[in-house]
Amino acid sequence: MLETLIHGLIPLNFIEYAIYTLVVTHITIVAITLYLHRGVCHSAIDIHPILSHFFRFWLWLTTSMRTADWVAIHRKHHAKVETSDDPHSPAVYGINKVILQGADLYHKEKNNKETIEKYSQNCPQDWIEERVYTGRNNLGILLLFILNIILFGTVGIIIWSIQMMWTPIFAAGGINGAGHYWGYRNYNTNDDSTNMSPVGIIIGGEELHNNHHAYPTAAKFSLRPWEFDIGWMYIKIFGAIGLCKVKRIAPMPIIQKNENTDSKLIAQSLLQSKLAVITDYTQKVLKPAYQKEKFKLSFKLLADHPQRLSEHQENKINTLLENSSTLNTIYILKNRLHEILHSRQTKHEQFVETLNNWSNEAKGHGITALDDFLVRLRSYKVI
Ligand SMILES: [Zn+2]
Ligand SMILES: [Zn+2]
Repeated sequence: MLETLIHGLIPLNFIEYAIYTLVVTHITIVAITLYLHRGVCHSAIDIHPILSHFFRFWLWLTTSMRTADWVAIHRKHHAKVETSDDPHSPAVYGINKVILQGADLYHKEKNNKETIEKYSQNCPQDWIEERVYTGRNNLGILLLFILNIILFGTVGIIIWSIQMMWTPIFAAGGINGAGHYWGYRNYNTNDDSTNMSPVGIIIGGEELHNNHHAYPTAAKFSLRPWEFDIGWMYIKIFGAIGLCKVKRIAPMPIIQKNENTDSKLIAQSLLQSKLAVITDYTQKVLKPAYQKEKFKLSFKLLADHPQRLSEHQENKINTLLENSSTLNTIYILKNRLHEILHSRQTKHEQFVETLNNWSNEAKGHGITALDDFLVRLRSYKVI
């Protein structure tokens, strides 16, 4: 009897305990990325009720997080990214606080009724949500605690503790902190989001956070041929057995051989690929010119969207650019292009006309990289 209490019903060796813990924590991560994030929050995929009920149950059992809280806080993050209203921006709170106290920031925002009401549309409101997942939201992790002890005895308590820490460490601290601080950027998005690793396994593909901020409603997070998103692999597997449907993926801009001549096509292609276009300009026109100058200023500031700069930063850039007419021209054109691509001009003719004016302004400066870009600008096509 005492033996069963210490070792539980299923005594395992160390490796087996480790594998079990990895599997159950991974299921939690998959539930977060597929159900909470790509499914409910961004409507990038449709999940069959059988699977979504499993995910909801599993999240209740292993995290005690409510769908409406998670979804609302995350939607607010996208809407207010890197401002003082962003619930967990390292640019506002500092990287250490977001990584080490990410769960506290989550809990603080969870108690903000206005946030939850405003951003939690389309979250489940059925009987089980109200009575169990909300009404008894801590019962799940208590049951898990008891179950772990029955199965594994005292080791079960350690496994349970790891399960409880996994989401705050990897999801809250990892994605919200590191995913806005360390790594590479494929897209010049209006935030600090980064791809922490080209291989997204540990946090279910959420490692590719810059790609996600570039195309928030896309189901697939890997956008370069060398990137891997395990969440997308699960979507394909569940899709093959009818448990999941993809609603949206990121538009893939390609540079075709011939230039577009149809103005409607130009407008459509460029508006669909505006992030790729602005990133193209930043990397292939602005960066080489910046590298020639040996500025005492980070490239990130120059590449950042102008509205994200403080007055002090703006003044600093302007002072430095006074002595470099080429870089100054390229910089001003970048900000103008950004404005055009993000303006809400309803008619495509109007958009194309503004863009033509911009192209005419950009021509004749004798900057090869800029001339090459102007050719590419009319060759974008979305597949
Ligand atoms: Zn983010
Ligand atoms: Zn998101």
